[in-house]
Amino acid sequence: MIVAIANQKGGVGKTTTAVNLAAALAMRGRRTLLVDLDPQANSSISFLHHDAITRSTYDAIADPSCALADVIQPTPVPNLDIAPARISLAKLEARLIGELDAHFKLKDKISQLNGEYAHIVIDCPPALGLLTVNALVAATHLLIPIQSSYFALEGTDDLLETIEKVRQRPNPALRILGVVITMHDKRTALARDIREQIQKVFGGTVFKTVITKSVRLEESPAYKESIFTFAPDSTGATDYYSLCEEVIERVEARTA
Ligand code: ATP
Ligand code: MG
Repeated sequence: MIVAIANQKGGVGKTTTAVNLAAALAMRGRRTLLVDLDPQANSSISFLHHDAITRSTYDAIADPSCALADVIQPTPVPNLDIAPARISLAKLEARLIGELDAHFKLKDKISQLNGEYAHIVIDCPPALGLLTVNALVAATHLLIPIQSSYFALEGTDDLLETIEKVRQRPNPALRILGVVITMHDKRTALARDIREQIQKVFGGTVFKTVITKSVRLEESPAYKESIFTFAPDSTGATDYYSLCEEVIERVEARTA
């Protein structure tokens, strides 16, 4: 499975989901790669120190002579490697202007990995530009985190339109794996309403697992750990474990 975690809205839990889903997949014993496609480099910094990031996904995508394998590093999580990002990724769009295969760069570099990873999780930036499109072209599946907030559904039309365009040409096989509601506060009536609204729009694609608000999830990146080692008994750990189980179930059911 190559799963892109995308939503052009900022701060909805893409990175938190990418990092902890990737860690949960790796904990199941299969080799997993986290690809950071966001110039903010938040998922990279969740596991690595700034100084440790020299070559990044920018080099792998922009430089024909640089393989993805050349930028990959191990993380402290067993079975989990990362292709880290740097701010230089912000220059990618300008760099690739006029290149006919600009949308296929990541896909081509991933295919050179020769199936070395059972799962690849791609963390996207909060935009629908070339980076997110590269992720959608390379991916087999898309997972959309939606924040449980009053403005939750704002912008999802644009996202769905982009997905349809990608499916029409470069990647007809792309499947929506599901929508996950994040930062949910079960206690408020508003949050319950919002959950119902999201379910009305996305129906059965909404995961049963809801990621509740948890301070532990905010803290763990500062300690370079996933939620599973940082706070194994927290709701954040239980939620992301259960999301991972649902993800595996869906992927297996549809490919069986
Ligand atoms: P961006 O669009 O900037 O890349 P994002 O969609 O990747 O943002 P995150 O970075 O994962 O979103 O989350 C935004 C902020 O909310 C972060 O500070 C993160 O620690 C916090 N956060 C994410 N999920 C939760 C949660 N379930 N409970 C509490 N805080 C959370
Ligand atoms: Mg992010």
